[in-house]
Amino acid sequence: KGPDPDLPIIKERMSAVRRKILVMSGKGGVGKSTFTAQLGWAFASNEDTQTAIMDIDICGPSIPTILGLSNQTIHATSSGWSPVYVSDNLCCMSVAFLLPSQTSAVIWRGPKKNGLIKQFLKDVDWTGGLEEEEEEEEEDEGELQDRDARRGEDDMRITPAPETNGHAAATATAPATLTEGDAAAGAPAKQPVLDYMLIDTPPGTSDEHLSIVGFLRESGIDGAVLLTTPQEVSLQDVRKEISFCRKMNVRILGVVENMAGFVCPACHGRSDIFHPSTGGAKALCEELGLNFLGSIPLDPRIGKCCDLGESFVDEYPDSPASHAYLDVIERIK
Ligand code: ADP
Repeated sequence: KGPDPDLPIIKERMSAVRRKILVMSGKGGVGKSTFTAQLGWAFASNEDTQTAIMDIDICGPSIPTILGLSNQTIHATSSGWSPVYVSDNLCCMSVAFLLPSQTSAVIWRGPKKNGLIKQFLKDVDWTGGLEEEEEEEEEDEGELQDRDARRGEDDMRITPAPETNGHAAATATAPATLTEGDAAAGAPAKQPVLDYMLIDTPPGTSDEHLSIVGFLRESGIDGAVLLTTPQEVSLQDVRKEISFCRKMNVRILGVVENMAGFVCPACHGRSDIFHPSTGGAKALCEELGLNFLGSIPLDPRIGKCCDLGESFVDEYPDSPASHAYLDVIERIK
């Protein structure tokens, strides 16, 4: 079997993105999607930073809800699928935008998940809305409402193709950096238009992780941020993520401890909930020579912001959790 002919297209598309960061956790429920979404918002609170979130938790896509994008659909434009925009400088792509309803279950085996992740990488025009927002608004009438076209019957129909795909889509989007071939031909280099892409993965190390790492091998993943709670049971599983990253040659940007202590909404004092309440992730990082990126406390207002589709760092800039999000950004940027 020869090399995958789609890889150069993916590389071309992804050259629009300066830094591609995986967010991983060993366990579900440790707050990975919340962290990814709130970190995205925290990046985007700097209006000069263009940020995208790609949700590849295909069986449990919760990023759109947390970003306040429930019931949104994606559009197909002449240059591919357009992601859904939260604001001028924050956008998102998720399988949730393709489902007939919010309660639809995606029951797919590996190859189908692999196919959708490839489409996200190859067919989504991450630059479109950011570069040509006004033009796209004018084109609205001609856009396909993919979801309506697919509504009904069963979930296996979630295999829409954008109006253009493959080479056509890739060439319609300005290549941001040179491919090896282009470089040899002396084509001019272009700057990436997206600063950060945060990729929310499912818990554990499964098909989705193998797919994304394989497809982005040539484009270059900057690294992975690993999320854990202070509890031993979560710390043990994060060791598996570390082992996965090391086997797959994915750089580990560092480990974040989430749900570390509790900030009382009444007195704003910090209490410890779990045992050990904090410190395990830092000790793990010291043991394994990894960067410790910080501790985010439990704060019920984080859940509230997620339910309302709001940015926590913008709503509660003085919260220790906001400081923790911003510290993570400083440490990985
Ligand atoms: P995962 O993606 O790891 O499965 P979620 O992001 O869905 O986890 O988070 C699980 C629950 O924990 C959600 O209800 C979310 O609002 C809550 N949560 C996550 N992090 C925090 C935090 N630091 N403070 C308070 N609630 C949190």
